[in-house]
Amino acid sequence: MASHPWSEQDFIAGNPCLDFINTVGDTDKNRIRERLVDDQSLLTWARYSGMVGQGDRVQLSADALPRAISLREQLYSLFSGLARHTPTAGAWIQLRKELAEAVAHSELNTSDPASMRLEGADLCSRIALDALALLHSGQLHRLKECARCTWLFLDQSKAQRRRWCRTEACGNRARVERHYRKRSAREQD
Ligand SMILES: [Zn+2]
Repeated sequence: MASHPWSEQDFIAGNPCLDFINTVGDTDKNRIRERLVDDQSLLTWARYSGMVGQGDRVQLSADALPRAISLREQLYSLFSGLARHTPTAGAWIQLRKELAEAVAHSELNTSDPASMRLEGADLCSRIALDALALLHSGQLHRLKECARCTWLFLDQSKAQRRRWCRTEACGNRARVERHYRKRSAREQD
């Protein structure tokens, strides 16, 4: 399977950890259209997202891809629950192990005293630490899941009425469906 060509359309969440959760999806609530198909797609995602800097050398361990996908689904379970205001303790227990590992091997980045942050040694650790930062960010009231697919995002709109991951994707599909439903209802009358 060819690597997915990442573009701005893959980074709609307003947060790198949520963008990572959105590396799989579908046009409905399935999560079967996988974009992390090989190590290369994981690496190119990491660079595109800024999680790994251009000059940054990253070594991926042999189990990096399955570990990243497993972490991603744990994160989805946790943040999807939070978006629906029904967080599950089970999702947190799974994630806790990855987080403990990430914190244990982290470094404190002191290059900017105004925003010091923990940096993970490898990609999964960086993503896990990013999730931890999001949990503490005070932004969770903006966390939403697309009304049609499983993508998550922070709704930064003033009115807090964003419903879709992307209006031109899920928003349009919903609009077209509404149109056909109305038309078939009219035809049945
Ligand atoms: Zn969507």
